[in-house]
Amino acid sequence: MAAIIKVDNLTHIYQAGTVMQSYAIKDISFEIEEGSFVGLIGHTGSGKSTLIQHLNGLIKPSSGTVFFKGEDIFAESYSLKQLRSRVGLVFQYPEYQLFEEDVIRDVMYGPKNMGFSDEEAREKAIEALKLAGMNEVFYERSPFELSGGQKRRAAIAGVLSMEPEVLILDEPTAGLDPKGRDEILDTIDKLHREKGITIVLVSHSMDDIAKYADKLLVLDKGELKYNDVPKAVFREYKELEKIGLSAPQLTYLAADLIKQGVDIDPEIGTVEEAKNEILRLLKGE
Ligand code: ADP
Ligand code: MG
Repeated sequence: MAAIIKVDNLTHIYQAGTVMQSYAIKDISFEIEEGSFVGLIGHTGSGKSTLIQHLNGLIKPSSGTVFFKGEDIFAESYSLKQLRSRVGLVFQYPEYQLFEEDVIRDVMYGPKNMGFSDEEAREKAIEALKLAGMNEVFYERSPFELSGGQKRRAAIAGVLSMEPEVLILDEPTAGLDPKGRDEILDTIDKLHREKGITIVLVSHSMDDIAKYADKLLVLDKGELKYNDVPKAVFREYKELEKIGLSAPQLTYLAADLIKQGVDIDPEIGTVEEAKNEILRLLKGE
């Protein structure tokens, strides 16, 4: 599979040249394959938000660059405006992204900004709201009256209305209750499976990553510590703990059972995988 995004020796220094200068990300390189579901995890302050804001050109690197489909997005002639419709970014706090008087107008903003007529923008907005799982009763409401989960759906729809090829979400489940979290994650998973959108999900939860991601990037103090399939990273749980992270809960369960002599796959990470292993053991296979 071809890389849709390539990050090349990316470094970002905040307040460069002052006594306050600090490296938020240091010399990071990786590729994102078209159609993949990438998890990005790291302790608070490890540089996740800084990194992803480079992917649609929202902030500029101190050195290094980003390629989208082989083109350097920070080259002078490159259209960042166009890029922002192709690489959609949903911020951690959707409040920052919602500003119109009602939900539908908010979601129409992107397509209108791209030059679509009111009517076309409305069609695209409705399509996007449906994809984001937003109930019609909210279309005419103020985005500020919505619950946390609905606000996120509105923010996601606002990005989907531009029909992006890549959807980047910065901790979209932060602050939601378990039901709200599962619903948002299932919506994202559906966009990936049914629409083929490449997903970059910034998350705090290894359990969520284990369930959805096919690639995992781990940041530690601005450096890229791991870039691998999730299972390969989970195997390093002792190293993960040193940087304030952990493997999925079920990986620990498997490790405990193995210590007690149970012949279970050490690489289980999800409830589904645990179920299959338990059934296999019960059948004595
Ligand atoms: P994460 O999203 O993983 O929590 P961030 O990218 O927000 O990490 O932050 C990485 C580092 O950069 C932190 O040390 C943070 O304090 C610093 N930082 C983030 N944004 C700014 C900013 N606008 N100005 C100065 N420092 C910042
Ligand atoms: Mg962040």
